[in-house]
Amino acid sequence: MKLYNTMTRTRDEFKTHTEGKVNMYTCGPTVYHFAHIGNLRSYIMEDVLEKYLRYLRYDVNRVMNITDVGHLSSDADTGEDKMLKGAKREKKTVMEIAKYYTDAFFADCAKLNIKTPDVVEPATNCIPEFIEMVEGLLEKGYAYLSGGNVYFDTSKLKEYYVFNKHDAEDLEVGVREGVEEDTAKRNKCDFVLWFTKSKFEDQELKWDSPWGVGYPGWHIECSAISLKHNGEYLDLHCGGIDNAFPHHTNEIAQSEAYLGHEWCPQWFHVHHLNTQGGKMSKSKGEFLTVSLLEEKGYDPLIYRLFCLQSHYRKSLVFSWEGMDNTKAAYTKLLQRIASLKENDGEIDGEAYDKYTADFKEALDNDLNTSLAVTVLYDVLKAKTNDATKRKLIADFDTVMSLSLLEKAAALASAAKEEEAGAAPDIDPGLAAKIEAMIAERAEAKAAKNYARADEIRGELTAMGVTLKDSKEGTTYTIG
Ligand code: AMP
Ligand code: ZN
Repeated sequence: MKLYNTMTRTRDEFKTHTEGKVNMYTCGPTVYHFAHIGNLRSYIMEDVLEKYLRYLRYDVNRVMNITDVGHLSSDADTGEDKMLKGAKREKKTVMEIAKYYTDAFFADCAKLNIKTPDVVEPATNCIPEFIEMVEGLLEKGYAYLSGGNVYFDTSKLKEYYVFNKHDAEDLEVGVREGVEEDTAKRNKCDFVLWFTKSKFEDQELKWDSPWGVGYPGWHIECSAISLKHNGEYLDLHCGGIDNAFPHHTNEIAQSEAYLGHEWCPQWFHVHHLNTQGGKMSKSKGEFLTVSLLEEKGYDPLIYRLFCLQSHYRKSLVFSWEGMDNTKAAYTKLLQRIASLKENDGEIDGEAYDKYTADFKEALDNDLNTSLAVTVLYDVLKAKTNDATKRKLIADFDTVMSLSLLEKAAALASAAKEEEAGAAPDIDPGLAAKIEAMIAERAEAKAAKNYARADEIRGELTAMGVTLKDSKEGTTYTIG
């Protein structure tokens, strides 16, 4: 499998430290608000990647943190903790906010068929691990105390800008909004490992540490949580592209300085979901959620398909028109799958191997999910039996997770119920009258008296009865 690697800026052959085993880490949500569908684009594509690795029979250990402390409202080390801001907004405690939005995040994930990672670890569970790592960095001379905070000293590294060759000006652009120069830093790109001093003294969650009562920086969370659950060698690190700098750059700096060896060779970054007005962002406060999609009548899996239809390394512009087109495509896809016969003979090995190879070729090519969706359509058109098609669809859906067979079965049974419901709970006298009129219309048609047949249909329509003619006869619905 070839996967684009932000570290090398090329599409590399996917490798692991131990054969057949993948240690995978994903930056989890900052739980101060609902996840927007932009965040969820990243989690959908990471879910596809994880499931494809499992499809390829890798043994995957996927770890995700929950950021419930330390993520400040600016990516530089200034600004208020996002969690505290959320708590103030909702007049609740930070832990109440964290619990509420963590649950909401996983509820959204479930609706999008995003699997829960093998390990989910809230940052507030790992304070001793963060302290241990910061102590190690101080001992090794990679960190210093200044103005009450512990900073990472980026001047000690051979190379800090591992993803792109930022110069100092780029860095200023990188840290963006509301950046205030932190005079306690020795170098411009140094970052905080442990805070005891902040402009915002009302930080709710604080812990004792060798440097005073305080709280961890955001970046140290991911390094320490990955180390705790994935060990010293990570195979694959994922996140949205905005995390590449400074967050992932800082994770690499501190992890490698602490461990004394290379940490993670492969970096998978999902590009942004944008609105017509630019990047969708939680902090701007205007964002779309899974609940909103549902309120507007979209099954969340339509959004999943919307994401799969484009490549993860291209930014994607969200539009309702795009969602409508995807909704039509999804419904049609399910209808076609619903029409496949069950138990329709033996699996056709040749066709099975051909389409399986096509599916793999698409995903082996830097996770080309839109091409994989095309292979799904090819299967439906293929000259092979329905049993083979159903088996291929079931296999592919272990990766795509569009609930294709289940939703198609539900669609088929709803259609059957609708048909069977032709005699709803209506007054038996009225039902008898309708049945008699339908019989009379059939006789009129048989006698080629179409004028009378139409007249009867007209009378029934006026009574609120809709007729449906098929080879098996005429059924009706009322209302
Ligand atoms: P946060 O909850 O802000 O820590 O972000 C959670 C994840 O969503 C991170 O991996 C971000 O990089 C990613 N992300 C943020 N905004 C977007 C967006 N508009 N499109 C795709 N991913 C995003
Ligand atoms: Zn992270």
